[in-house]
Order: sequence, then structure tokens, then C-alpha cells
Amino acid sequence: MSAEAVPSTLDAVHGAEWAPWKMPWWRPAPSDRLTFVWMILIHVGAVVGLILTPFPGWRVILAAATLHFLGGLGTTVCYHRGITHKSVRLHPAVRNVLTFFAMLNGSGEPLSWAAHHRLHHAKSDTPEDISSPRVGGFWWSHLRWLWQAGAPPIRKYCRDIDTPAYRFWTHMQTPVSLLGFCIGIPFGLAAFFWLGPIRLVFALHAQCFVNSVCHMRANAGPDEETAQNVRWLSLMHFFQGENWHRNHHDRPGSARLGGTPGQLDIGWYTILLLERLGLAKDVRRPTIERSLDAAA
Ligand SMILES: [Zn+2]
Ligand SMILES: [Zn+2]
Repeated sequence: MSAEAVPSTLDAVHGAEWAPWKMPWWRPAPSDRLTFVWMILIHVGAVVGLILTPFPGWRVILAAATLHFLGGLGTTVCYHRGITHKSVRLHPAVRNVLTFFAMLNGSGEPLSWAAHHRLHHAKSDTPEDISSPRVGGFWWSHLRWLWQAGAPPIRKYCRDIDTPAYRFWTHMQTPVSLLGFCIGIPFGLAAFFWLGPIRLVFALHAQCFVNSVCHMRANAGPDEETAQNVRWLSLMHFFQGENWHRNHHDRPGSARLGGTPGQLDIGWYTILLLERLGLAKDVRRPTIERSLDAAA
């Protein structure tokens, strides 16, 4: 397939011809050139930052970790469980605050995120799955699809949420992303690098491991599902639950990703807290939780 033949939207690409993972990695889809530039920018910035300011001090580390924690909650509680799967209905104020922190953490705007993720669930482990390591290999599933898969299929998968409230954040993508990159500047060089590019690279790979490693189950047959829980990944996600990905594919409608109390899922406990405060409704609980409660 030639570079010129790569379609600009996934709406039109589902078919045998669609195989962008066969492209060289440095050839972004026409709609994804800015994403490609962003990837280079944050990675170069992170490498330079680690060389120039390898020891930023505990205050800067704490600030970067706090932003990563809030951004992670934005992605898992708001983007993933709330907007995409509708397993919890968040108060609009909470939804907008969490969306802001998710975007500040480099997760992009909610409509694209939800469209890509609904496609992932609809086509899991097939060539039409946007980020399957089975068809594209590790680097395709981990990073390359972000700039080579083409525009998100919003019209196909997100008609229900393609509203002004969400499109507002699409318009805010560039300014909020740049704010996330530059947010440490007032606090000095080390803060710039660690709150900006280093944090953004860490957050990016934490999320990307869900697409790659969480779908690389060893010994999965060609017709078997590849999703798996990856315990070590909970460290990069600050125990917010996204690493329990096998559980999630088994019960995509559940707001709880951890399957047992030992599978720590801070995102779930955040939702319970928000529910208690009257800031979240319609929380969809997993059947397994009811059976655990019954056994207690
Ligand atoms: Zn998955
Ligand atoms: Zn999901």
C-alpha cells in the first residue's frame, strides 16, 4: 500500500487494504502530522531534561506526580469509564475538571479518545482493531497508531456524544496541550522539564502499555483473546486500575476494573467517593462484586 493511498479517516478504511502498520514509522497520516511533531517534541524534551536536570528535588517530583495522578484519574474515571463506556454518569463540573487534567496530561481530547477506544472494543484482536499488537506488532500498538491510523471515527462511534459540550474540548486541545508542556516554566529549568516533557512522556507510555503489553498475552492462540492483566503496570498508573485490562474486556460495562480487593483500583474508589458526595450517578457495578459481597 503506498503512502498516498492511506485514507484520512477510519470510517472508510475497514477492509483488507487497510494496513498502515506496513508504512515506515516516520510517515504520519495526513491528519496526524501535529501528533507526530508532538511525540518528537516531548521525547526530545524529556531526554534533554534528564541530561540537564537529573535531580530536580522532591518538590518538583511531588508536583509532577500530582499532575500525573490527576491526569490519570481524568483518563480512567472520566474518559474511559464515564464518557466512553457510560458505566458512571459524572456531574458536568467533575467531568470538565477531569477532562482538563486528562488533556493537561497528554491524553488528547475526549471525542477522539472515546472514538478510538470504542473501535478498539468493537474490533478487538482483528486487523480492524486500531491498536492490535497481533496485526501490527509491539511498536504499532504502543505508539505508531497514534500518528499513522488516521482521523478518529467520531461519526461512526460517537454520535451520542458529538455535542458542543465535548467539541469545546476538541477546540481546546492545542492550548491545553501547550499549557501542559510549559506549565513548569515559572518554577525554573528543572520544573519545566519534569512537569512538562518528562511527565508527559511518562504518562504517554503508561497509557500506551495498556494498548501494547496488556494485549500481548503469552500463548494466546490465533483465535483467542489477547487481553491480560499486567500487575507491574499498576505502578505507572499509580494504582488507578487501568492495568486490569483483561477484567475490563470481560466486563466492559462495569465501572470497576479491579476484579478482587487485591487488584487495587483507585479509579473505582474515586467513583464510589464521588457517588457518596452526589457527584456521580448510575454507577454500573460488576456482577463479581455482588458475589464477593455475598461471600463476605
Ligand atoms: Zn483492550
Ligand atoms: Zn474500555
